[in-house]
This record gives sequence, structure tokens and C-alpha cells, in this order.
Amino acid sequence: TNYVAHSERYNTMKYNRCGKSGVLLPAISLGLWHNFGFVDKQHNAREILRTAFDLGITHFDLANNYGPPYGSAEENFGMLFKKDFKPYRDELFIASKAGYDMWPGPYGNWGSRKYLMASIDQSLERMGLDYVDIFYHHRPDPDTPLEETMVALADIVRQGKALYVGISNYQPKETAEAAALLKELRVPFILHQARYSIFDRWVEDGLLDALDNNGVGCIAFSPLAQGMLTNKYVNGIPDDSRAAKNFTYLDKEQVESNLGKIKNLAALADKRGQKLSQMAIAWLLNRPTVSSVLVGASSSGQLRENVKALDNLEFSKEEMDIINANS
Ligand code: NDP
Repeated sequence: TNYVAHSERYNTMKYNRCGKSGVLLPAISLGLWHNFGFVDKQHNAREILRTAFDLGITHFDLANNYGPPYGSAEENFGMLFKKDFKPYRDELFIASKAGYDMWPGPYGNWGSRKYLMASIDQSLERMGLDYVDIFYHHRPDPDTPLEETMVALADIVRQGKALYVGISNYQPKETAEAAALLKELRVPFILHQARYSIFDRWVEDGLLDALDNNGVGCIAFSPLAQGMLTNKYVNGIPDDSRAAKNFTYLDKEQVESNLGKIKNLAALADKRGQKLSQMAIAWLLNRPTVSSVLVGASSSGQLRENVKALDNLEFSKEEMDIINANS
């Protein structure tokens, strides 16, 4: 069936300015790391994407290696883009990245110019796009000079293959260095993509300050700690959950060791009239440097639930204390 986007899609989503740039991002964005590969059900992927856009989620986050297999999330996204979203291209902000293992041999990983230049072309081809809105270096490369990587990002912008650039998983010092290089190159560096949740607050130790100092926004990934910060594990590990599946980065031991905190946080969320997922997202949106919270979803229902986080973004001092005691 033909997709027509919901006419009221911009009525409830909140949009935040991304650092000191011209870009507004939805408070909640959708990541395609899981649930969009060839191993996944395409009709479910399609429903999640349509639901997202209907809710005002204009930002979709991909990377060269999302799947599995590698590349398949971009290929699936490309197929669905062609069927459903082509008329809406200018309403969408689409991301891809390169930096992790992608193809065999010495040129399919890390941060060389050789790798980045080839990878962006492959990503555009798989997605059937002329350009991405933002292209990231996915992780720092300790062995490639930062300047080589940053000049490659700049050239990707100059070639018209990306409008903006970002980095991901960089430490504060490397982030400041990257910002200085990109400033010199006059390339719009607008986002740092970092793991950030109630359970993982490493960015508070210098990274958020480095971003503020450089007018760069933070987009928080794994905001639900891959599903631990939801109500799903409160009564055990469901068979269809990420923690129960093979080949994921969340295991049962992690869930079990956090169960006490999860239960306390779920009880607090309940008092606030929220699901734990909604409270976890609202908590992140309280941080001024956080431009967007990048969630994953294995169903459209999860996404609908998560977007309702916007209904209660305020926290009392007492609530913050309980969260801090359980993070
Ligand atoms: P989340 O922490 O949001 O975890 C998403 C998972 O949590 C879902 O797939 C689902 O898992 C579960 N979930 C979500 N909502 C609910 C709900 N309402 N109720 C119950 N369970 C729920 O984020 P991700 O770890 O998926 O990361 C999000 C995105 O961030 C990625 O898609 C990717 O784009 C980006 N990312 C970037 C990285 C980087 O290095 N730059 C690294 C990791 C992620 P289930 O399958 O169990 O239902």
C-alpha cells in the first residue's frame, strides 16, 4: 500500500538545535543498528520507519556495517526509502558512518582516507541516495593521523556526499582536536554520537564540556542501555528480547547484575506516571548539550511508547537523587 505521511506529524515532536548549528533534530531519533538487517522481518522494519516519520522523527541513523549482514540495514533502508520516503527526502536527516570492520583487507576498517572515501560511496549506493545529511567517523583510530581522517570528512562534504560531519566514541581531548581541525577546514561539525544513559555517564567526565566549548551537540546512543532501562526485564528475560538473542552486545549476566537498580528505577518511573523507558529518555533530554536521544526499537509499539517520554520531562531534586543512587 502507498504510504502517505501523517498530516499531523509535526504537531507533537519537539525539535532541538544541534550545538551552534542551523540544524534542528527531533528530541527522539531512530537508530537502525538492530532490527533492520536481512535477518530481520522487512514488514516490521517498514512499519517502524513509517511510525517514526508519522511521529515527527525526521532523523534516521545508519552505518555501513549495520545488519547483519554488514550493509544490509542500509540496503533495506534504501528499498524502503524508495517505496515510502522518496517524496519526503527534504524532510529527512539521514546519517551514515564508517570506522568499524566492514570489508576484508587493510582498507575496510578504522580511519584512513582510503577507507572513508570508499565507504561513503558504498553507503550512498546501498541506500540509493545522492548524499547523506551527516557522515560520521564511527570511532577514533589510534594509528591514523587525525588530520588525515578529518580532511577526508571535509572532502566528503566538498564532494557533496554529506552536508555535515560528526564523530563518534571519541574522548574529550581527541574531540577538541577534531573540532579545531574541522574549524580550520570550515566544515560544519555538528554532532558527537556517544553512549549515554542513566547507566553509563562517561560523557559527563569532560566530553560534554568539550562539546559545549565547540558548539557541537551530543546525540545519545543506547539511551535505554539496550533495553535494560525499560520495563521489559523487570520480571525476567523474555525470549524475544535482545538479551536472549545470540550475536548481540547485551547478555543475560548484564541484565541480572543490574536488576536491583532496574526495579528501583521502574518504581520511580511508575510514581511519575511513566514507563521506565520514558523516564530514561526524559532524563537525557534534561541535559542541555543533548540535542537528540537515539533510540532503537524492535516494534512500532516500543517507539510509540518511547516518544511519549515528551509528556513529562521535569524532575524534582528528590527524583534526581534516586536516579543518581541507581545509576
Ligand atoms: P536503546 O538503548 O534504545 O535500545 C533499544 C532496544 O531496547 C530495542 O531494540 C528494544 O530491544 C528495547 N526497547 C526499546 N524500547 C522499548 C520499550 N519501550 N519497551 C521495551 N523494550 C524496549 O538503543 P540501541 O542500543 O539500539 O542504540 C540506538 C541506536 O544508537 C542504534 O540503532 C544506532 O543507530 C546507535 N548506536 C551507535 C553506536 C555508535 O558506536 N555510534 C553504538 C550503538 C548504537 P528488544 O530487541 O529487546 O525488544
